[in-house]
Amino acid sequence: MPTVFYNSHATRDVYDIIRAAVPGGFELLTLDADSDEERKAKLAATDVAIVASHPLRKHLIDAATHLRLVQHQGVGWQDTVDAPALFARGIRLAMTPQGTTVGVAEHTILLMLAACKLLPHADRELREGRFHINALRPHSRELAGRTIGYLGFGRIGQAVAERLRAFGCTAIYHDPALPPDAARDATLAARAVSFEVLLREADVLSLHVPLTRETRGLIGREALALMKPDAILVNTARGGIVDEDALAEALADGRLAAAGLDVFAQEPPDPAHRLFALRNVVVSPHISAGTRDALTTKMRAAFANIERFYRGEPLAHEVVP
Ligand code: NAD
Repeated sequence: MPTVFYNSHATRDVYDIIRAAVPGGFELLTLDADSDEERKAKLAATDVAIVASHPLRKHLIDAATHLRLVQHQGVGWQDTVDAPALFARGIRLAMTPQGTTVGVAEHTILLMLAACKLLPHADRELREGRFHINALRPHSRELAGRTIGYLGFGRIGQAVAERLRAFGCTAIYHDPALPPDAARDATLAARAVSFEVLLREADVLSLHVPLTRETRGLIGREALALMKPDAILVNTARGGIVDEDALAEALADGRLAAAGLDVFAQEPPDPAHRLFALRNVVVSPHISAGTRDALTTKMRAAFANIERFYRGEPLAHEVVP
């Protein structure tokens, strides 16, 4: 019976959701502890691994002597899987946009709205007896009528834009590798612009690029300096795209209105992180695609692909070297 190894350590109720999607004839191997020793031993005994947040680096791939397929549970394989080490051994790699796109798009809008209204600050204050029925009014904003700038306009960027049309927002995007498509842009009320125009014109800058050599630190001091002082930055992509020190300075000095962050350069971040002391920062622990709904959808799609692999059929969403 083929075994499929789940590379991230999780709680029993997460494993239960995953197990419910395992088709007959397959066995799921999970971790009892977050231990690389156990990971290596279980990887050595499997043909297929599902990778989520815990990275699959070379030392683990070396231990996985029979590995033939890595199914990424999401889409951000660029910084979580050592793809060259896989391809050097002829191990295939596929991703799972199903579930991921909707989850991240909804969470992005949640962070935009929460940042517009300084929601965590208002919530904390209310619980401590300060009822700011008026005090937050000069700082609270709406999304209606605002220009949303998308850095990266692939699956998730477009899903956010599609939903924000109902909010009365317009979209500009910077994504030079995206093939032009007038019908798509008309449907999404979207317009392609240069990186500089994106930064200068966005009321909300939303990041949807992978973390690569080109995008690491792309939103640094220079980029932040071009943004409107009343703009909001939302990052549900990867922490390393933003220079967090430069962001904290801009937010503290009033050169940027607010930020909503689901991802951090180092995860988990240091609780003493200077961003966390700012009232105009909304944070969440990398949970954009972390819903029960998304996990169920992802696991069904992941196992459907694994079944394709064993039937010798073409894989969906394969990453080709
Ligand atoms: P996608 O591949 O559909 O879209 C990414 C887009 O970015 C592509 O159109 C690509 O052309 C563009 N791009 C790449 N480099 C660029 C650059 N330097 N400048 C401008 N555009 C560039 O991917 P997606 O499904 O939309 O996912 C986007 C990212 O979201 C993933 O790479 C991942 O890192 C992140 N993500 C985060 C979570 C989370 O839980 N927070 C979950 C899923 C995905």
